[in-house]
Amino acid sequence: MTASEKATKAYAIELEGRYAGTSRRNEFYIQEDIIYFDGNSLGLLSKRAEASVHAMMDSWKTHGIDGWMQGECPWFQLSEELGASMAPLIGAKPEEVIVTGSTTSNLHQLLATFFKPENGRTKILADELNFPTDIYAIQSQLQLHGLNPADHLIQVKSRDGQTLHTEDIVEAMTDDVAIVILSGVLYRSGQVLNMEKVTEAAHARGILVGYDLCHSIGAIPHALDAWNADFAFWCNYKHLNGGPGATGGIYMNEKHFGTQPGLAGWFGSAKDRQFDMSHTFTPAEGAGFLQMGTPHLLSSAPLIGALELMNEVGIEAIRERSLALTGYLQELIETELAEYGFTVTSPKNDEDRGGHVFAVHKEAARICKALKANGIIPDFRTPNGIRLAPVALYNTFEEVLETVTILKRIMDEEQYKQFENKREVVA
Ligand SMILES: *Cc1c(COP(=O)(O)O)cnc(C)c1O
Repeated sequence: MTASEKATKAYAIELEGRYAGTSRRNEFYIQEDIIYFDGNSLGLLSKRAEASVHAMMDSWKTHGIDGWMQGECPWFQLSEELGASMAPLIGAKPEEVIVTGSTTSNLHQLLATFFKPENGRTKILADELNFPTDIYAIQSQLQLHGLNPADHLIQVKSRDGQTLHTEDIVEAMTDDVAIVILSGVLYRSGQVLNMEKVTEAAHARGILVGYDLCHSIGAIPHALDAWNADFAFWCNYKHLNGGPGATGGIYMNEKHFGTQPGLAGWFGSAKDRQFDMSHTFTPAEGAGFLQMGTPHLLSSAPLIGALELMNEVGIEAIRERSLALTGYLQELIETELAEYGFTVTSPKNDEDRGGHVFAVHKEAARICKALKANGIIPDFRTPNGIRLAPVALYNTFEEVLETVTILKRIMDEEQYKQFENKREVVA
């Protein structure tokens, strides 16, 4: 099949038919005349997530304080139950996952729990492409131990400014490294990290490994138990569609159960002991011991419906449709838009690519504004990146084609020149 035959509505419809079983588009609120390609920054609202928020409101309305133990979704166990329903997405046991905190606060908790600079192991290994909040958290945890981040935070360099090489990561695992913190999928290029290899190499050198799954959970399958990862943390508002500010998550390998939490609080107690009100802390047996205070129930409620939907479809099917969508988008950008100066920097190989596509263009900031003016919602990533996430559950192959067609028009008509090449405050 030729490139121009692939850039047709007939072909997009054929692809849609092939992967139709995985689409749940009619379960989501889709705005008419909008192509939403930003589900990796904030996933869309599903009808089920909405219903579970209403159920939470009803339980408050009806039960007051008794909502902790009564009603449709008793609040006292909810963080553990949601953790359990997230476990199949990451290859974990139900008790190894807890819904709590945010990405940033969870990383703080995990470093407070696991980073014990001693025996010459005083450094944390990360990379230079990671999301800033992870780096800030690592720097401040080092400072809390009286260590200078300039010497004790090692950031693996990227050879091309977009991706990481496993060999470079392994080479940086020197004898003075205590913990490695890396992302499952890089937030810009969408590269999938080889978590299995990295974990194995770290353990062979006596180093602990934790992963930030913000861009990988809900987009790709994980086998955290099989890989023997030590811990992981993530947000639930991106591919998991948990809503703005949704409560985050933590995975803790069961081999670390029994560890004392670095930052203890009463919701980390064993459930049957919490209301003893003792001043001696008895930690919960599962990952729940990492919780601190009262759970953010209104920010957890949408996850009840969102996870139910996701588990019904299953992460393997989601991954298959997602790869077909991102693969189609990358191919069309390369065949239809290269002549306008676009290059794709997300990985070509399916196994190396997460749930989004990253295209680079020197006019990216104003091309993104022109896309928005045309009803397409991308993400601009400074200085020159256009991030596009065709999401398996609710985007379509026709939307992929339409986006490329509109991008072509924006370039042909120089529509982007009507805008300033400058990012918005939230970009
Ligand atoms: C989105 C994202 C975050 C966000 O952190 P919050 O504490 O949820 O605001 C952190 N790390 C990565 C890699 C992300 O993609």
